[in-house]
Amino acid sequence: MSKKESLIERDEGLLFALSGTFQDEDIWVIDSGASRHMTGRSHQLKTLSKGKSAYFVELGDNKSYPVKGIGSSFIKLEDGSNIHLNNILFVPGLHKNLLSISSLEDKGDRVAFIDGKVVVWAKDSSIEQVEVIGIQEGRLYRLISPINHALFHTEISPCELWHRRFGHLHFKILPTLNSIVDGIPDLKEDHEGVCKGCALSKNTKRPFGSNASRSKEILDLIRSDVYGPMTPKSLGGHLYYVTFIDDHSRKPWVYLMKTKDEVFTKFQEFKAKVVNLTKRRIKILRFDNGGEYTSKEIIVFCKEFGIKRELIVPYNPEQNEVVGRKNRFIEESVKAMIHDQDLPKFLWGEATKLTVYIQNRCPHRSLDKKTPEEVFIWEEAIY
Ligand SMILES: [Zn+2]
Repeated sequence: MSKKESLIERDEGLLFALSGTFQDEDIWVIDSGASRHMTGRSHQLKTLSKGKSAYFVELGDNKSYPVKGIGSSFIKLEDGSNIHLNNILFVPGLHKNLLSISSLEDKGDRVAFIDGKVVVWAKDSSIEQVEVIGIQEGRLYRLISPINHALFHTEISPCELWHRRFGHLHFKILPTLNSIVDGIPDLKEDHEGVCKGCALSKNTKRPFGSNASRSKEILDLIRSDVYGPMTPKSLGGHLYYVTFIDDHSRKPWVYLMKTKDEVFTKFQEFKAKVVNLTKRRIKILRFDNGGEYTSKEIIVFCKEFGIKRELIVPYNPEQNEVVGRKNRFIEESVKAMIHDQDLPKFLWGEATKLTVYIQNRCPHRSLDKKTPEEVFIWEEAIY
């Protein structure tokens, strides 16, 4: 008996519901209920080892169909690409092709059905590796793209890879990273043409950020601003985000919010965190004219802790430069990540938090090319 046949013999009984099918016999349905990849059409299989099996698949018509073999396939997709699948059960009587989510997850992939799309990412990977592999049609999800991320690390050049890992960082900064940040390889400025994400997001970031003067010590001045409403809502149902930037270190923090009036609780949260971490006081909170900063509770809170509230003078370019530039950096990185990988836009919340994490570990012009994280905690950032 071949190895493949013995695999069938060892298999447990399989159960799943038949919820419908497509007219086109070549379409693969992405199925969260199927415990293995299956097809009833032998022409879908490139290799097929037929074997006598005592195992059955129960379909939605309440009948059981025997497993007659196991095979592999190169599935051709509409965009001309191929996906290679192994261990596909051959089940005559099954009138569709099923791509099993649990089989993908067994291989270390993570899968989610969100907003009419099927997204896949490798376990422990970050958001830039999320891929849309399927779309919803009626009550079914069909496969539209191959799962590429296994190729991501092997085919892309280190410069292109770290450009993306750093939220589409300017290529000019790449060679400086190695001496500033632990764990980064020696990189050149090289890149292959224009990055798709940067082109589509019109990413025009300057390499090293603003050169504006800064306050003397950390927490002397915190700049804050609120952004939104964003469309669509984020994955977690958020519409806004608030940033707090420490002027001395240029280190930003970001909090996602469902409504603007959450600014007060987010500021309390932020203050508790940084004061506990540094044992210093926040001296000034600077903000624009938004009503969320002039609520009675914020005024009372600031008074209680001796925090001076300072309003940005409208149209003062110097006062606005730091916060404006920081926000553009966040916005452009988020757009580049989303466009580069064709991700659904509702992932902006996750991309925003990732961008801030990255930005804290990027060299900054006004910090003598040190990173905000390093200046804030007085140690070299470690990855
Ligand atoms: Zn890019």
